[in-house]
Amino acid sequence: MKFYSTNDPDHRVDVKEAIFRGLPADNGLYMPERIVPLPDAFIDQLQNLSFEEIGFVISRQLLGDEIPDEDLRRIVRETVNFPAPVVELDAQTYVLELFHGPSLAFKDFGARFMARLMHHYNDDTRELTILVATSGDTGGAVAAGFYDTPGIQVVILYPKGKVSDLQEKQLTTLGKNIHAIEVDGTFDDCQALVKQAFLDADLREQRRLSSANSINISRLIPQTFYYFEAYKQLQATGDPVVFCVPSGNFGNLTAGLIAHRLGLPVHHFIAATNANDVVPRFLENGEYRTAPSVATLSNAMDVGSPSNFARMANLFGQLMGKDHPMPEVHSRLGQLVAGYAFDDASTEVAVREVKEKFGYVIDPHGAVGYLALKEWQQTHPATRGVILETAHPSKFLPDMQRILEEEITVPERLASLADKEKVATKMGTDYATFREYLLKSTLDTY
Ligand SMILES: *Cc1c(COP(=O)(O)O)cnc(C)c1O
Repeated sequence: MKFYSTNDPDHRVDVKEAIFRGLPADNGLYMPERIVPLPDAFIDQLQNLSFEEIGFVISRQLLGDEIPDEDLRRIVRETVNFPAPVVELDAQTYVLELFHGPSLAFKDFGARFMARLMHHYNDDTRELTILVATSGDTGGAVAAGFYDTPGIQVVILYPKGKVSDLQEKQLTTLGKNIHAIEVDGTFDDCQALVKQAFLDADLREQRRLSSANSINISRLIPQTFYYFEAYKQLQATGDPVVFCVPSGNFGNLTAGLIAHRLGLPVHHFIAATNANDVVPRFLENGEYRTAPSVATLSNAMDVGSPSNFARMANLFGQLMGKDHPMPEVHSRLGQLVAGYAFDDASTEVAVREVKEKFGYVIDPHGAVGYLALKEWQQTHPATRGVILETAHPSKFLPDMQRILEEEITVPERLASLADKEKVATKMGTDYATFREYLLKSTLDTY
């Protein structure tokens, strides 16, 4: 399978290059050149397949046949070594829990698959160093996903005092090949340091660098697995299935659209956002206007310029044979996707409502999804809506306890971090220091 750039369909690379480069040189995003629907028999048989088997078939379909069966099976098995259960709230409302992985957010699926694919293709004898700047969830998932991967070092930069205590522990307590740098600055400063390192040709002669950010195609592929897994769990009963996706950079929703293109009979998708409502606005009026991000309660969705919009537009444009202009993308996308945005006050009300009505504790991101689903179902009542619960509520402990006025149970794997010792290298925003750190030999000791 080749992957092309959304900016230039003639620019094609193989899987390995798409994964290690991350971004094509023309600043587009990689997409698989073919998304061939799976046979109907596969959909009909879903109930007899394990999560692992589903993941294996989809990976084959999207990556082609260059990875031997045995290796691909192991990569998928190690990626989905935790469940994605669908919980019924009522006959129209379901929650797909994507937080059963090590960092308690759906980003675990992408990070685990990416780490294993990179390891599979990493045949260079030189160490690979992955650089990540994080403001929260991405860093934790990448740290857990790449932990103890031979031949790969991970350097995670995070802004001092700007991530929660438990988030910081997720980055700083693993050790081995995971190195945390606490930057006395902002998230943008962290990103600037990473960017400068990538542009430093002299450094790159001495260090093989790669990134693990969310635009990497290898993070998107495993996110299609759980749409099939959820559909499988619902299949027995009747009404059409819709997925409601709390969205920021729209990777999760894009993965859903790819699942649909692979033949999953999804009736509709609902894009749910907080005040960062670029995509719902586009769906409403056809104008795509990015904006600076606004801080909200559902902070993992505070994105003013969603990176995966290019992929969504591409799925409803070039892949259909020719380059469609925006108005056509708008009308085609609108046939499959609805979009709604909600403010923090409504989100808090929704968290309380879900607790009171169903006895279910939903996190602020899932609560935005709940609101969007209920809005859409007002005009489409005979449907089964699945809300993607993107993170465990205990990741947002102070807000959740304030909203619900009760204690939230913290899963053992998160709670146990509190007693572990934080190990981080403190650094300013000066590039020379960061460069020196990357060149020093201690990174080689693992
Ligand atoms: C990353 C994240 C999102 C947004 O997902 P996208 O794929 O960027 O749209 C939503 N919720 C949580 C908890 C996240 O960590």
